[in-house]
Amino acid sequence: MSNAPIPFLAANESPEAAEWVGALRAAMPDERIVTFKDLNEEARSEARLAIVANPDPADLRRLPRLCWVHSVWAGVERLLADPENSRLHIVRLLDPQLAATMAEAVLAWSLFLHREMPAYARQQAQQLWQPRPYIRPQQRTLGLLGLGALGSASAERLLAAGFKVCGWSRQQRFLPGVECFAGDAGLAGMLARTDILICLLPLTLETRGLLSADRLARLPTGASLINFARGPIIVDEDLRAVLDSGRLEHVVLDVFAREPLPTDQWQWRHPRVTVLPHCSAQTDRETASRIVADNIRRYRDTGELPASVDAVRGY
Ligand code: NAP
Repeated sequence: MSNAPIPFLAANESPEAAEWVGALRAAMPDERIVTFKDLNEEARSEARLAIVANPDPADLRRLPRLCWVHSVWAGVERLLADPENSRLHIVRLLDPQLAATMAEAVLAWSLFLHREMPAYARQQAQQLWQPRPYIRPQQRTLGLLGLGALGSASAERLLAAGFKVCGWSRQQRFLPGVECFAGDAGLAGMLARTDILICLLPLTLETRGLLSADRLARLPTGASLINFARGPIIVDEDLRAVLDSGRLEHVVLDVFAREPLPTDQWQWRHPRVTVLPHCSAQTDRETASRIVADNIRRYRDTGELPASVDAVRGY
């Protein structure tokens, strides 16, 4: 007997759904991957497994026999937020290619800040010819919030570029060459010595609003910030106040509480903000599909499920 079709669910009207289905079918030609909207009620009622890209929670509820979902996104906070999903084994994407892409973005935008490109852009606008003193990477401390798959890959790239690197996690980590901090006291200590802070945390109950006025105030004057994780980790109005006060040099924001960032939001026009459209580490459909295919093949052969996210911890 052939296996039941595997529904693919994306956010409503996602233009990428067809491309995902194509890549997933190519990686597992023996499976029937079908977009959720193209499955009839009978097929929906048979599905035990689904592949998802930030799906609408209401759609998942229409798969009554679902046991596990494989996300092609690394962040699964939207899945965890729906209490209905507590019955599901939720697997998130762990792809070395994603970590490499993020580490490249972290290096690129750290160099943008390190070589003071925002300040030179301001000088150009004033036709001001004025070299600024050179600072060696060894004189800059880059602080990573989060030392997981993405944070640890980023730490390696930053170390190779010559920066001093420190990092913060929930449990104490030990990474070669990285000064590691953990817990509340550790965070205060790390912020105080960080020139460029890079956020790579998951969005959880504990990290929502983590970067509030008091924490941002612990950064040295002239520090900069990169958020490549999730928008609500920063308290936007606190960030705006600290930017307006001139204490923070510049921020690079790739993620926002509402995406796409509405055109009336202050971040678009603030001279000390660079806005990116959630592009720092996009999933590579080909490598991700191969990883999903391997996990599904193992499940078919052995019944073994890949490790799930920890619903209590929130990541
Ligand atoms: P991960 O492997 O789960 O690592 C998460 C890290 O954050 C771990 O080091 C963890 O500490 C730490 N952490 C979690 N909660 C904490 C807390 N309350 N206090 C201190 N540290 C805490 O996750 P990842 O794969 O690196 O991904 C991180 C996030 O990046 C994702 O959740 C997603 O939101 C975001 N992301 C963004 C993009 C983009 O394009 N912008 C792309 C992919 C992912 P422990 O080590 O102690 O567990």
